[in-house]
Amino acid sequence: MNVIIFGPPGAGKGTQANNLVKKYNLYQISTGDLLRSEVSNKTDIGRNIENIISKGDFATDEIVNELIQNVVSNPQKKNKLIFDGYPRSLSQAKNLDILLNSSNQKIDFIFFLNVKKDTIIKRIEKRKILEKRADDNLQTILKRYDTYMETTKPVLDFYSKNPNFYEIDGSVKIDEISSKIEQILSV
Ligand code: AMP
Repeated sequence: MNVIIFGPPGAGKGTQANNLVKKYNLYQISTGDLLRSEVSNKTDIGRNIENIISKGDFATDEIVNELIQNVVSNPQKKNKLIFDGYPRSLSQAKNLDILLNSSNQKIDFIFFLNVKKDTIIKRIEKRKILEKRADDNLQTILKRYDTYMETTKPVLDFYSKNPNFYEIDGSVKIDEISSKIEQILSV
């Protein structure tokens, strides 16, 4: 199965994706991780996006789609994909449909982790201390939230019409969220 975990920054997408990777033997595709690795490996893409990411803006669809294409076309990962942080714009969502179609795949489940802004701010402030991410300061968090709301809202509208779309309360405990997701997957 292929799964999308969707939601604002700090909603717990990475945590839930990690859990599903272990339980269902999936591959986690985090565009944030892919982009950060380009930055730390100082590739051409990395040099291009370093500033963009640290300001809380989005990398271009072109760059992100290229990184995703390599993963979706990998036969080893076919039908075992869990997308975390992608798609984040309508054009990325449409691109993903095209890529999956061309390798005879589809999205089986879409989970939207819904969390309010004040909860997210508290969570990211905690993560800042634990993970020391360059984009985890308050100003960037607010910017990331606003960018998310602006650019990602159309993606939400696009997916919420899908029968495989599930909205989950992302403000409850990690284990509670995991069991809700697993319950849906087991039906
Ligand atoms: P994340 O780890 O998912 O919170 O992503 C960290 C940062 O990477 C974001 O704030 C964006 O600057 C960039 N990024 C991650 N995923 C995408 C994407 N799908 N499209 C554009 N930019 C992205």
